[in-house]
Amino acid sequence: MFGLIGHLTSLEHAQSVARDLGYPEYADQDLEFWCSAPPQIVDEITVTSATGQVIEGRYVESCFLPEMLATRRFKAATRKIINAMVHAQKNGLDITALGGFSSIIFENFDLSQLKQVRNVTLNFEKFTTGNTHTAYIIARQVEQASKQLGMNLSDCTIAVCGATGDIGSAVCRWINNRLDVKELLLIARNPERLQALQDELGRGKVMTLDESLPQADIVVWVASMPKGVEIDPTTLKQPCLLIDGGYPKNLGTKVQHPGIHVLNGGIVEHSLDIDWKIMGLVNMDVPARQLFACFAEAMLLEFEKWHTNFSWGRNMITVEKMDQIGEASVRHGFRPLLLETI
Ligand code: NDP
Repeated sequence: MFGLIGHLTSLEHAQSVARDLGYPEYADQDLEFWCSAPPQIVDEITVTSATGQVIEGRYVESCFLPEMLATRRFKAATRKIINAMVHAQKNGLDITALGGFSSIIFENFDLSQLKQVRNVTLNFEKFTTGNTHTAYIIARQVEQASKQLGMNLSDCTIAVCGATGDIGSAVCRWINNRLDVKELLLIARNPERLQALQDELGRGKVMTLDESLPQADIVVWVASMPKGVEIDPTTLKQPCLLIDGGYPKNLGTKVQHPGIHVLNGGIVEHSLDIDWKIMGLVNMDVPARQLFACFAEAMLLEFEKWHTNFSWGRNMITVEKMDQIGEASVRHGFRPLLLETI
C-alpha cells in the first residue's frame, strides 16, 4: 500500500476543503487551530496501471499550511510533517511521498534527527520526496512543450528559478546532459550554492530574476516560495514558455498575455481514471487523471515494488535515476501534462 502526504495551499483553501470534505468543525477555524490539528487520512485510492496491475493507497492530510512558514511558526510546521510521517507508518503504508513543502521542511529543519517520535521509530526508507520523478517530468515538459510552440531548443535561453534546489538542480543537470540549448540562466538567492552549481555544470549564467526574465524563451519555476511572485508579462519575450512547477504556484497571478504560454509544471496525466477525490480538492483541471509527479512517484515505487526512498536528501538526483523512474512512468501509463491549445 502506498501513501501520499500532502497539504493545501493556504488557510482559505484549507477552510473551503474542510467544508467540502464534511469537516465543518475545521471550516471556520483560524491558523492557530490548524497549527494544532492532527494529521488525517482523508482519501482511499485505487490506481490501475497501463499494464493492468492494480494498487491501493491512502492520502494523509498533514494539516500543514504555507502561512505557518510565512508567519515563522516553524515548530508547528515541523510537527505537522513528522506527525504525518508517523501516521503513515502506523497505518502500514509501505512507501509514502512527501508532497509539496513536506520534503522541503524535512530537509531545511533537519528532521532526519527526529527518528524516534514517542513510541515510533521512523523508518525513512519508507518515504520518498518524489523529486526525481518531478524533475524528470519537468525536463520532459521543457522538451515537449517547446516543440508544441515550434521553438528550437538550440536557439533558446532557459532560465531556472530555484536552480540550486533539489528539483531545480536536477532539471539543470538534464538540460546540461541531454539538451542542446543556447543559454542556461541560474536564479536563486544564495550565491555560494549558485557558484557550486555553476562549477558542477561547467556552464550557466547566474542572474537575478529581473535580469533573466527579458532574456528567457523558457522559464522553469521551481522555487520554494510560500507565496507566488507577481511578474509583468510585458517584460517577457514573445513567445515565452513559463513552466510553473511550484506548489503553491510560483506565479502569483494567472498570466494572460499574447505569446505567453503558462504550463502547470511537474504534473502528470494518467492514461486511466484514478479512483480518488483529492485532486478535485486541489483544483486539478482533470482530477481523475492529473496529479503531482511526486505523488505519482510513490505509485510507481508501489507498482514496481521498490519500497525504498528512491528520492532522498538534497541535490543528489542524477540523470540516470531520472531515466529509471521515467521508464517506469511510461510503462505504467503516465505522461507529462502539455499545453492544451496554442
Ligand atoms: P528546494 O528547497 O530544494 O529548492 C528551492 C529553490 O528555490 C532553491 O534553489 C532556493 O534557493 C530557491 N528559492 C527559494 N526562494 C526563492 C526566491 N524568493 N527567489 C529565488 N529563488 C528562491 O525545493 P524543491 O526543489 O524540493 O521544490 C521546489 C518547488 O517544487 C516547491 O514549490 C515545491 O513545493 C514544488 N514541488 C512540486 C512537486 C510536484 O509534484 N509538482 C513535487 C515536489 C515539490 P535560495 O534559498 O538560495 O534562494
